[in-house]
Amino acid sequence: MHIKHDAHIHTPFCPHGSADTMNDYAEAALRAGLHEITFTEHAPLPDGFVDPVPHQDSSMKAADLSRYFEACQKMKQEYAGHLIIRTGLEVDYIDGWENETKRFLDQAGPSLDDAILSVHFLRTDSGYVCMDYHEDTFAELIKVCGSLEEVYQLYYKTVLASASADLGKWKPDRLGHITLVRKFQKQFPRSFDDSPWIQAVIDTAAEKELALDVNTAGLYKPLCEEHYPPEEALKHALAKGVRLVYGSDAHKSSQVGASRAAVDAFFTEQSPFHL
Ligand SMILES: [Zn+2]
Ligand SMILES: [Zn+2]
Repeated sequence: MHIKHDAHIHTPFCPHGSADTMNDYAEAALRAGLHEITFTEHAPLPDGFVDPVPHQDSSMKAADLSRYFEACQKMKQEYAGHLIIRTGLEVDYIDGWENETKRFLDQAGPSLDDAILSVHFLRTDSGYVCMDYHEDTFAELIKVCGSLEEVYQLYYKTVLASASADLGKWKPDRLGHITLVRKFQKQFPRSFDDSPWIQAVIDTAAEKELALDVNTAGLYKPLCEEHYPPEEALKHALAKGVRLVYGSDAHKSSQVGASRAAVDAFFTEQSPFHL
């Protein structure tokens, strides 16, 4: 196994995750033979943005941010010499909230070693929708957008906008799960090809020197059964010299390092930016 770093891990600060402690995640990483982990909790949503999911639990609370940073710091000290621990965040890119996001990053950036920029929320005529929340919400989204193809277009356009957005000096340098729109693909099969969109995202990542989150969570989502992004896209990314960074997207400690064998072939010595 070449992958030694799981760079997408959630924590008990996530209100929709598990109560597993940061120590549980670190111990699981050591058991899995990893050398390094990054905690990437969902950053607080911008001030004034209303979380559209029913329990408004998409991200950690702004009031918890400093406690989160302190907890990461404490973990680094506790595991020094055994496991490299990085302090990170998974930051949402929300169309229309770039200024607020930039302001947040200006403040939080100095505390970060690593971060991911992800799209979960789509801006539609009926307001913002959390795309990956539930298959029923996804069905609603199809109605609102007009067709499945239009949902895909909106998603990839938003990911492209995230790659190009000016979010300041501390903008995350890695795009999260760039094919998350496929999460419910078994229930909503495509009658069109979305690979040109995926390639466009990868080409923009190459141009902007952004890395890609190679996220295996989709493999254990029953309606997806595929990692984000899929194999063809990973080949394209390597050909373009885009740096790949593995992430389990663990929301419980048993998922740390999950399914990394499935993508390990993309992390050989030949990879241009092997971690
Ligand atoms: Zn989450
Ligand atoms: Zn995510």
